[in-house]
Amino acid sequence: MPTGLLPVYESPKAFQDACEKARRDGHSVGFVPTMGALHAGHLALVAEARRRCSFVAVSIFVNPTQFGPGEDLARYPRTFERDLEGCARAGAACVFAPDAASMYPPGESTRVRVEGLTDSLCGPVRPGHFEGVATIVAKLFALAGPCVALFGRKDFQQLRVIERMARDLFFPVQVVGFPTVREPDGLAMSSRNAYLSPEDRRGAAQIPLALSHAVRAFQAGERSVARLVEPTRARIARISSSIDYVTVADPVSLVPLADHGTAGDRALLAIAARVGAARLIDNVVLGEDPAPCPQEEA
Ligand code: AMP
Repeated sequence: MPTGLLPVYESPKAFQDACEKARRDGHSVGFVPTMGALHAGHLALVAEARRRCSFVAVSIFVNPTQFGPGEDLARYPRTFERDLEGCARAGAACVFAPDAASMYPPGESTRVRVEGLTDSLCGPVRPGHFEGVATIVAKLFALAGPCVALFGRKDFQQLRVIERMARDLFFPVQVVGFPTVREPDGLAMSSRNAYLSPEDRRGAAQIPLALSHAVRAFQAGERSVARLVEPTRARIARISSSIDYVTVADPVSLVPLADHGTAGDRALLAIAARVGAARLIDNVVLGEDPAPCPQEEA
C-alpha cells in the first residue's frame, strides 16, 4: 500500500517481493526491525543501514509473542504516522507493517529457541521473551532475504541472541550491532521512556550515571566484580522500585561472573530495573564503551 511518504506493505508476500525486486534491480538491502514508537535511536539505525545499503526496509510490528502475561503489550506506545515520517526522513525505502494475524496465521506453530545465551540477564526474568524475539526475527529475516540487519546494542542480549540465531539457521543476513543512542543526560533512548512521569524521568538519569561511574572505575583499574556491581546497584536502588539485575557478564557468552570474581579486559555490565511504570534496561561493555555521561554531575 503506497502512502504519500513511502510504500507501506502489510502483507508478508508483498514485503518479500519488494525486497526481492530491490535486489534484482541491483540494490543492497538493509533491514531495521522495530516495534514502532520510533525515536532518534531507531532512526540512527535506519541512517546507518542507509549508509551501508542502497535500499532500506524498516519493519514496524509490536510482536505479541515476546510479551509475557502482565507485560505492556496492550499499552505499548503506537505512533504510526509519525514513525512513517521519521523513516522517510532517515532514508528508508519502504516500511513493512503487518498485523498479528498475518505473522501468526491460524495453525502456525513454529518457535525458535536459542539456548545458553538466554539463561542469564533478562532470560529468567522474562520467560518466553527471547523465544518470541527469535521467532519473529526469523520470520522477518525469511521475508527480507539476503540483507544487512541493524540491531541496537541497548538490547545487548537480544543482539547476541539474533547473531547466534542467524548463524545457526544459515540466514543470509549480516547482523550488525549499533551503539546505544542516548538523551543529553545519558539515559538510553527507549520507547518505554514514554511511561516515565517527569519525576521518574529525572530519577532515571541515575542509571547512565551509575554505569558511567563503573566505566571510570574500570578505566582506573578496578576488576573486582563486587566492587563494580555494588556501587552501581546502590545508585540505581535510590530511584528504582525493584531491580531485576545488576550483572557483570562475559560479553560473548553472557555468562555472569561471580561476585567474588574478577573481570577480564572486556566485561558486560548490564542492568534491568523498574522506574515508576517503566522497566528500563541499559548496559556498557567495560573496556570498550565510553561512559554514557561524559560530564558527571554526581
Ligand atoms: P524496539 O522497537 O525497541 O524493538 O527496537 C528496535 C531496534 O532499535 C532494536 O534493535 C533496538 O535495540 C534498537 N534500539 C532501541 N533503542 C535504541 C537506542 N537507544 N539506541 C540504539 N538502538 C536502539
